[in-house]
Amino acid sequence: MSSPSPGSGVAVLGVAVPTPLRRLFDYRPGAAAPEGGWQPGLRVRVPLGRREVVGVVVECRAHSELPLDTLKPVSACLDTQPLPADWLWLCRFTARYYQHALGDTLHQAMPVLLRQGRPLEARTRERWQLTAAGRDTSAAQLGRARRQAELLELLRQHPRGVVHSVISAQGFARAQLQGLADKGLASATEEPLTAAPAPRQGGLLAEPALTLNREQAAALAALHEGLERYHPCLLQGVTGSGKTEVYLQLIEAVVAHDRQALVLVPEIGLTPQTLARFRRRFRVPVVALHSQLTDAERLDAWEAARAGRAPIVIGTRSAIFTPLARPGAIIVDEEHDGSFKQQDGLRYHARDLAIIRAHREGIPVVLGSATPSLESLVQARAGHYRHLQLTRRASHHAPARLELVDLRGRRRQGGLVPPVIDAIRQALAAGNQVLVFINRRGFAPTLACHACGWLAECDHCDARLTLHRQPSQLTCHHCERQRPLPDACPDCGSADLRPLGTGTERSEETLAALFPDVAVHRIDRDSTRRKDALEQTLAEIRRGEPALLVGTQMIAKGHHLPHVTLVVVVNADAGLYASDFRALEHSAQLLVQVAGRAGRAERPGRVLVQTLHPEDPHLRLLAERGYEALAEQLLEERRAAGLPPYRHLALLRLESPREADATQLAGEAAEALRDWLASHALAVDCLGPVPAPMERRQNRYHVQTMLRSERRGPLHDACAWLVRWLEAQPGARRVRWSLDVDPQTL
Ligand code: ADP
Ligand code: ZN
Ligand code: ZN
Repeated sequence: MSSPSPGSGVAVLGVAVPTPLRRLFDYRPGAAAPEGGWQPGLRVRVPLGRREVVGVVVECRAHSELPLDTLKPVSACLDTQPLPADWLWLCRFTARYYQHALGDTLHQAMPVLLRQGRPLEARTRERWQLTAAGRDTSAAQLGRARRQAELLELLRQHPRGVVHSVISAQGFARAQLQGLADKGLASATEEPLTAAPAPRQGGLLAEPALTLNREQAAALAALHEGLERYHPCLLQGVTGSGKTEVYLQLIEAVVAHDRQALVLVPEIGLTPQTLARFRRRFRVPVVALHSQLTDAERLDAWEAARAGRAPIVIGTRSAIFTPLARPGAIIVDEEHDGSFKQQDGLRYHARDLAIIRAHREGIPVVLGSATPSLESLVQARAGHYRHLQLTRRASHHAPARLELVDLRGRRRQGGLVPPVIDAIRQALAAGNQVLVFINRRGFAPTLACHACGWLAECDHCDARLTLHRQPSQLTCHHCERQRPLPDACPDCGSADLRPLGTGTERSEETLAALFPDVAVHRIDRDSTRRKDALEQTLAEIRRGEPALLVGTQMIAKGHHLPHVTLVVVVNADAGLYASDFRALEHSAQLLVQVAGRAGRAERPGRVLVQTLHPEDPHLRLLAERGYEALAEQLLEERRAAGLPPYRHLALLRLESPREADATQLAGEAAEALRDWLASHALAVDCLGPVPAPMERRQNRYHVQTMLRSERRGPLHDACAWLVRWLEAQPGARRVRWSLDVDPQTL
């Protein structure tokens, strides 16, 4: 419990330190109290075992459960003022909700340099300007001090001043600056290195906003109504309907009110193109939190956001933890995207935290998507979110329909059947580009022996090895282990080994042979490993020459490909019969997204979807009536099956090199949990344990138990109890376990 007036009567500090332990550690304040007294949110350096670590003060108390003289004092306080209260609140919420240690949550939610104890302050630079006396002085008056005279003239040309790095780059020495300063002719001011606000003359916009169409204008008007309060909106708009333009104009309003906007985009969506679009529009700085920042740059960006010098912050998942001095709106673009969920360690969902944060801070939040998650659709239908729709493309062409193409009994070349190859030929002949989508990288999904049926499998995982040709080898896509290609079948000795199925490399090879006069660009994780490779290829594609693009979902998302008129989906069947209950939803979202690449500019598009199951009811629903209709159907199925979004889930995962260890602990945990649930009459189902869908991965055995409830409260209580139980188990040491609240994949 924090004390009423900060710092008074504080005898004990409850500190969150970076350990997996889900509790605070008590320390005595020691001598190092900062000016404002002890408060939650101050970083401290504290002894922990034989180490010193950086922790965060979470509680300031008068008492400890331990005798005060057994407590160690903090070694140092690292901050002059606490980290923002809203940020601390969000971290505490996150730790509680996801059953994660608070110390580790706080560490993950701050930049690396803060974790290491660096001060949180803006790096500054000097800006030099002439004084009034300097402006009245002519160069000639400086006599023999020739360089000082030149410097005087340089400064005279820049009434707003010149930063020191520019001055020294022009060959001036510090002594010459000092000379002018000593004569009272020039003076320096310190300014933050990052995100100095641009001059407000000439308005906020560097380029004029587009004139909105009727639907966009209605959506923006609705958003304007809720600028000053918590106002959650689902902006559902087909690809190319102008959602981004609506975001831009919302941000304009937010910044005009002197507030800050936070924009979250999927990992694959923070492209130079996207950033350029935001930066072109605004005269104020757009701070991007992307993976290529150095630690120092990341700290600068974080500090600028916290201090309020960054009006617009755009970033991927972890940017949800960026503190804002004057929060004004949060936008989550492509809210259905899987990359918003962290899949290890702190397993948070940035979209869900965006909602929580906006609620806490009393600001609007916009979830945008062409294919909203079923979770968000249900909230919108229940009236919890305002549902805004953009049904038309800005370019007037209706989004292309999906045409199903039957694969059964037809000859295939590189995975493609003759009518599809004909369609490709026609599109290329008409001077257009064609996108061939195939969600498997490598040459072929596996290598098979034609004599005995042997398949190349990973020794460490329950998985096939993928055949690659560039370079030639077998690779496990689950543990990244590589093996040379065998000359003969290890089982029967036959040399008749053949690739089975089609990956991007094979498709590229076949298409290059079929269309020798056209450039074929392959875009997948392998072809874009080199820095800038993707941007170079995209630049080439945007030049607009007829071309074939072969790619994985890397190309399906986010990129604007104005010259593509035909999209081919090599195989739509992967998600149809998968065991994961979200597989259908995710593959429908991906299909719609891929289809959205066709006909983005002035030419209409066509989408051919190859399948072995052209009669599949889900696929037909999607093709004939669109995503909404399929979502409706899937929601009914989820309700009937007792699955999210109608029930809430948590998944306990256990893994161990020894199968028996994992299975035993999982069994004991489930049994203990069932007893506890029964004695507390809590309406939570405990299902399992069962082997994980891929039981053996990296030579470790995986089992899991599912918790399910109609209400969050009892589920949360059960999770909290289970975590405490597991932490108290000696056997738990040989088994790695984690609890995933609201798991995205099972
Ligand atoms: P989305 O984010 O929904 O995919 P975008 O905002 O990227 O859509 O818009 C798609 C294209 O349409 C872009 O080239 C954009 O400049 C253009 N556009 C969007 N809104 C308008 C409008 N009101 N008038 C003219 N062009 C528009
Ligand atoms: Zn064989
Ligand atoms: Zn493997």
